Amino acid sequence: MIINTHFGEIPQSYLFSEVAERVRRYEAQHPDAAVLRLGIGDVTRPLAPAIIDALHAAVDEQATASSFQGYGPEAGYAFLREAIAAGEYGSIGVDVSADEVFIGDGSKSDSANVQELFSLSAKVAVTDPVYPVYVDSNAMAGRLGTFDGERWTGLTYLPCDDGNGYRPALPAAPVELIYLCSPNNPTGTTMSRTELETWVAYARETGAVILFDVAYRAFITGDEVPRSIYEIPGADEVAIELGSFSKTAGFTGLRCSWTVVPKKLRRDGASLNAMWLRRQSTKFNGTPYIVQRAAEAVYSAAGSAQVQADVDYYLANARLIRSTLEAAGLNAVGGEHSPYVWFRCPGGMDSWAFFDALLERAQIVGTPGVGFGPTGAGHFRLSAFNTAEATQEAAERLARLIPTLV
Ligand code: PLP
Repeated sequence: MIINTHFGEIPQSYLFSEVAERVRRYEAQHPDAAVLRLGIGDVTRPLAPAIIDALHAAVDEQATASSFQGYGPEAGYAFLREAIAAGEYGSIGVDVSADEVFIGDGSKSDSANVQELFSLSAKVAVTDPVYPVYVDSNAMAGRLGTFDGERWTGLTYLPCDDGNGYRPALPAAPVELIYLCSPNNPTGTTMSRTELETWVAYARETGAVILFDVAYRAFITGDEVPRSIYEIPGADEVAIELGSFSKTAGFTGLRCSWTVVPKKLRRDGASLNAMWLRRQSTKFNGTPYIVQRAAEAVYSAAGSAQVQADVDYYLANARLIRSTLEAAGLNAVGGEHSPYVWFRCPGGMDSWAFFDALLERAQIVGTPGVGFGPTGAGHFRLSAFNTAEATQEAAERLARLIPTLV
C-alpha cells in the first residue's frame, strides 16, 4: 500500500454540492423564480477603497527594480506582523509580539495545517456542530479512528445546542487538542469570558492545547465578548489563535490570514512557535507581497472605518434575519456578533426537509445544519452575506412561510 488510506475513510463532503444540485434542479424547473441565496459563507461586498489603493500601489512597486519584491519572509513581512500585533492585540490591551504572529494564505490552510505540530496519538476534541476543516484535516492525518456513518470513533464531540445554551461541556475523558471557534461557524454564538476562563484553566491543568479560531472576530460588537483568547490570563501558555482577513475585510478571494503562536507555548520541552516557524519555512513560501500590503491597509484610519462599515452592513442583515425568525416563533441564536443565524428547524423537520420547503415555498437557499456534525441534525444556518435588499425580501418570505410550518 503506498497511498494514505485515511483519505478513503473520510465521508464525501456532499453538503455544498448537494445544495448546489438541488438549487440547479429547482431553477431549471422554475426559470422565473427569484431565488435568494442565504446559504453562502462568502462575502458579497467589494473590497474597501483603501484596500484597493494599497493593492494598486503595491502592484506599481513590482514594476521597478528598486521596489520589486520576490520571495518574502516565510512568516510574513514585518510591516504586517507588526500591524496585526498592534491593530488586533495592542488595541484590546493584549500583549502579542510581532514574532508571535505568522502570516498565512487563509485560515482554512492554517487551521488544517496546525495539527501537524502534534503527535498522531494526540486526542482531539471539537465542538459539534463544527467548521468541518478541523475534523477532516485530523482524519487525513489518521488521528480520528474510523467513521461509523455518523461519527469518528476516536474524536471527542462536544455537543452544542439549546439544551446546554450552546456552551460546550469540558470533555469527560482527557483530550490534548481542543478546537474552539468564537464567534462560531455555524452557530453564530460566542464564548463568554467566564467560559474561556474555564477552558484555559482546563488546558493549564491537563497540558492540552487550545486552537482558537477567531475568523469572525470583526463581527463582535461592544466590550463584553472576548475578541481574543489571550484576553484570558495564562492563555499564552496554552493556546494558538487563528485569524483571517476573509470575513473581516472581504479577502475571501485575495487570501490572507494570521496565526499567533505565543513564545510561552511549550510542550515536551519544545517551543511551538519555533516548530510553526520551521513548518512554515519548509512548506510555505509566503502570502503575496501585494496581498500583505492590502491587509496592512485594513489598519489605516480610512481602511478600518471602511471595513467596519461593511461588517456593520452584514450585521444589520444578520439582526433582521434573527428577529424575523424569532417573531415567527423560532428560537434562533447568532446574528448578534456574527454573520450567521442558527436555529432548530420548525415543526421538528429534519435539515434537508426544511431546506426543500424553504427553497420550494419561499425560494430561499440556506445551509442544512446536519452538514456540520451530528448535533447539527434538525438545525439550519442562514447567512447575512447578501445585499440589504435581498435580506429584506428574504425576511418577508420567511415571515410568511415559517408560521405555516411550526
Ligand atoms: N474558520 C472558520 C470558522 C471559517 O468559517 C472559515 C471560512 O468559512 C475559515 C476559518 C477559513 O477562512 P479563510 O480560509 O478564508 O481565511
